[in-house]
Amino acid sequence: MQFDKEQIKKFNSLETPFYYYNLDLLNKTLEELNKESSKRNYKIHYALKANSNDRILKIISGAGLGADCVSGNEITKAVSAGFKNGEIVFAGVGKSDKEIRTALVNNIACFNVESVQELEVINSIASAQNKIAPLAIRINPNVDANTHHYITTGLEENKFGINTWELPAIIEKLSSLKNINLIGIHFHIGSQITDLNIFKGLCLRVNEIQKWFDERNFQFKSINAGGGLGINYEDPDAELIPDFRSYFDVFHKFLEVRPDQEIHFEIGRAIIGQCGSLISRVLYIKEGMSTNFAILDAGMTELIRPALYQSYHKIENLSNFGFQISDFGFRKYDVVGPICESSDTFGKSILLPETIRGNLIAIRSTGAYGEEMASGYNLREKAKSHFSDKI
Ligand SMILES: *Cc1c(COP(=O)(O)O)cnc(C)c1O
Repeated sequence: MQFDKEQIKKFNSLETPFYYYNLDLLNKTLEELNKESSKRNYKIHYALKANSNDRILKIISGAGLGADCVSGNEITKAVSAGFKNGEIVFAGVGKSDKEIRTALVNNIACFNVESVQELEVINSIASAQNKIAPLAIRINPNVDANTHHYITTGLEENKFGINTWELPAIIEKLSSLKNINLIGIHFHIGSQITDLNIFKGLCLRVNEIQKWFDERNFQFKSINAGGGLGINYEDPDAELIPDFRSYFDVFHKFLEVRPDQEIHFEIGRAIIGQCGSLISRVLYIKEGMSTNFAILDAGMTELIRPALYQSYHKIENLSNFGFQISDFGFRKYDVVGPICESSDTFGKSILLPETIRGNLIAIRSTGAYGEEMASGYNLREKAKSHFSDKI
């Protein structure tokens, strides 16, 4: 159980909804990640888009990780949060000229380039700044991540990366572009991947692609395997810290690494996902035709994942914490938000102890892509965040 009675008492005195972050768990997760990655000398970049809360970034940069950014503002933020410029990588299918300039001014480690045209644009902007831009080609390996189709990125039908049939054209182009330096290849096939066999498939594909480049006399300093390691949303307490060891073991076993080659990862969700909960209060209980609605003061404006990808988050009634469901009798609830959209639903037919107006509800595993994706729709105020060490 993540919450004890003392914490819940304190939650009761706070304005809801709010994000609650367990920093102790974050530190332990980072410790475990560093322990397992350093065994293989793997370099880890934290994907800022999972959560760019200032305090969280400080802790993660303090643990020595690099940063993975997908916008110019993320680069600026990463630098100010203490990530080293030389450990920042920059991906994204639609990097604007302004963002490319920001990246160059900040001397980042690597652009992960997603199209042939982008290669030319980076070259010309770098030339204007009299710089050589270090870059990796983001290759679409056509590996199915077998995750929700909205978070699958490594198939030829997706907009991400450069397809393998375009590689000869890329190689030809490279010789004429003087202000770029190809240092690596990059892959990111999707998110919330829980079947490690998918990563094995990625490794085998990367091996083939490397062989293809070898035959053309291209050697790379760096291979970037992206991110995507999933977390246990169904039963968060059973696996608060993801199994980094097994994840890295797959790469150690199946990825063919050349001498002196660096292997990079970009991990977001697996670092911060389990550290956050969205704490909300029940506003109303409404009897429906076949179900009861528990209407919360948090909605898709605070947490859009269920509406966007039909994602599951464990929902707990904290006010009845410590009691067995049988003490109360239990009922099924559709747990919904207050926003004027039917998709503003956190879960259907959720079994909860008898729930009443004023009860505190925790929506678990919301550290990643929760607060970060919040919006002001319906002119809602941004929910505050609270941290375990200050509550
Ligand atoms: C989102 C993203 C990541 C991080 O994905 P997680 O599933 O959160 O680990 C890594 N690399 C790129 C390029 C991304 O877009």
